[in-house]
Amino acid sequence: MSEDSPASPPPVSAPTSEPVGSTPKWKPSTVAVKAGRPEHRPDQPLNEPIVMASTYVAGGDLEYGRYGNPTWTAFEEALGALEGGRCLSFASGLAAVATVLDLVGRDAKVVAPRHAYNGTVLQLGDLEARGRLQTELVDVTDTAAVVAACEDAALVWLESPTNPALEIADIETIRKAAHEAGAYVVVDNTFATPLLQTPLDLDVDMVVHSATKYLAGHSDVLMGAVVTRDEDLYAVLKGRRDDLLGAVPGTLEAWLALRGLRTLHLRVERAQANAQELVRRLSEHPAVGEVRYPGFGGIVSVVLAQGALAADLLTHKTKLWVHATSLGGVESTFERRRRWKSEPATIPDGLVRLSVGIEDVDDLWDDLRTALDDLT
Ligand SMILES: *Cc1c(COP(=O)(O)O)cnc(C)c1O
Repeated sequence: MSEDSPASPPPVSAPTSEPVGSTPKWKPSTVAVKAGRPEHRPDQPLNEPIVMASTYVAGGDLEYGRYGNPTWTAFEEALGALEGGRCLSFASGLAAVATVLDLVGRDAKVVAPRHAYNGTVLQLGDLEARGRLQTELVDVTDTAAVVAACEDAALVWLESPTNPALEIADIETIRKAAHEAGAYVVVDNTFATPLLQTPLDLDVDMVVHSATKYLAGHSDVLMGAVVTRDEDLYAVLKGRRDDLLGAVPGTLEAWLALRGLRTLHLRVERAQANAQELVRRLSEHPAVGEVRYPGFGGIVSVVLAQGALAADLLTHKTKLWVHATSLGGVESTFERRRRWKSEPATIPDGLVRLSVGIEDVDDLWDDLRTALDDLT
C-alpha cells in the first residue's frame, strides 16, 4: 500500500453510524426506493434535483465541482445504504477500478481472477508491464490456490460470479486468508448487485461497481462506484478521486443512475426469473453444448456445441435479442465473448454470454429457439 493509505492489517470495522438516508429495519427493496431522498418538507421535490455546478460559493464543504455534488450524494447515499457502507461515485466502473488499484504500492502484489472483467485484467497487465506492481492471476474456484497466492499479497481482487465464465469464489475463506496476510480485499459486485450479495457483510474492505450495468440498468449511462466501511480508506479514495485523478461522474449520469436504482429489485427479480427459466430450456436444446449459470442473477453463458461459427451465427439471427457487449440493462443482449482479442483463451471460443432482460420469457425463448433450431 502507498504511504498515505492506512497501515495494514486493514482496519475492518462496523460502520460507526447507520448509512445516511436509510433505516436499519428496512428491507433492500424499500431502501432502493427510499434512500438518498430529500427530507419530507412542503414543496420539496421527492427527488434530489439535477444540480449543475462547477463552482460553489466559498466557505462551505463543497467549494468546487470536483469535490462534491448534491446529485452524486443522493446516488451515493442510496447505493451506500444498499451495500452497507459509504459510497463514492466515479465516472465509470473502470475509473473506480483504476482508483482502487492506484492504492497499491510500488512492486506490491495483486491477486486477481484470471477471468476478472477484461478491463481490470488489462489494467493490471499495463501496471505490471510498467513496473508499478505485480499480478498473480488465479482460478477463483481453486480456493486453496487462491489462499496460497494471498500470502504475500497487498490486495486481493475478487469477482464472483466472474465474467463471463460465471465461476464462484469462496469469498469468506479467501477474505480471511487475505486479512491474515495484511492484504486488502476488494469485490467487484457488478454481476450480483447488492440485492443478491453484500460482500461488506463478509468483512471485505471495498466493493466496486460498474453502475453502468444493473444499478443504472437502462443501457444509457456510464458510471462506477466504490463502497467501504473503512473511514480511512474512504478518505484516501475520495482524495484520489477528487484531487489526483478527477475521476468524478457527471451530474446527469448520477441522476439517471439513481432513477434506475429505484427499480433495481424489480429488474433483478424479473431478469433472474427469466434467466432461470431460460437455463432450463437451453439445457435441453441440441445446439447447446453447455449452460453455465451460478444459480442466481441474470447472466447466463452457453457454449454452442458447434463452436465459434455457430455462436457468431446465433448472435446475428435473432430479432429480439440484441448483439451487443455490456449487460444488466432492461433489454436482453448477448455476444460471443471471444470476438474480443483481449478475451482469455481459457474462455471457450463458442461461448455466448447472455444478459437476460425483463421482457416476456416466452418471447425471449421463441426468438432464441428459432435461431438455435436453424443451427442444427
Ligand atoms: C463493465 C464492467 C466494469 C467496467 O465498468 P465501466 O462502467 O464499463 O467502466 C467493471 N467490472 C465489471 C464486472 C463489469 O462488467
